[in-house]
Amino acid sequence: MNEKIEYILNQLTDKELAYFLKFKVPTYVKTTQTDILKYIEYKRKITKSQLFSLIDKDEITSNKEFLICKRCGSDKMFAYDVKWHIPITHFNAENEFASLYQRATGKDYNKLKVECFVCGKIIINPNNERLSFWEKLLKFLSLSILS
Ligand SMILES: [Zn+2]
Repeated sequence: MNEKIEYILNQLTDKELAYFLKFKVPTYVKTTQTDILKYIEYKRKITKSQLFSLIDKDEITSNKEFLICKRCGSDKMFAYDVKWHIPITHFNAENEFASLYQRATGKDYNKLKVECFVCGKIIINPNNERLSFWEKLLKFLSLSILS
């Protein structure tokens, strides 16, 4: 197995490894899946069912100030830039700035998307922000005016 992959797997707790096995491993190519299963069996010396027994049924709640994944409880995240789809019903400075930036430069206005490394859950999605009551109302009104 690739040393770098093994190094990263060594950083995972048993519980994180359980979520990783359940959610992320199936998305990898077959050879990588086999490597990871071998690693779990021979290096960590733990069975699949022992790992799966560590998975919680309920969402994780935490008072911790730093970001943790609500599905698996891990704080191992990675972030990358995605094109921000500017919401037309949000009236704020960033919205105006972003439109102006796109018009002036012809480039996309990017925002950070944060994903859990362990289980793949999207932690922050700039294109799927929760709308407030007023924003929902405005969206509803603008749709009913158009139709
Ligand atoms: Zn997670």
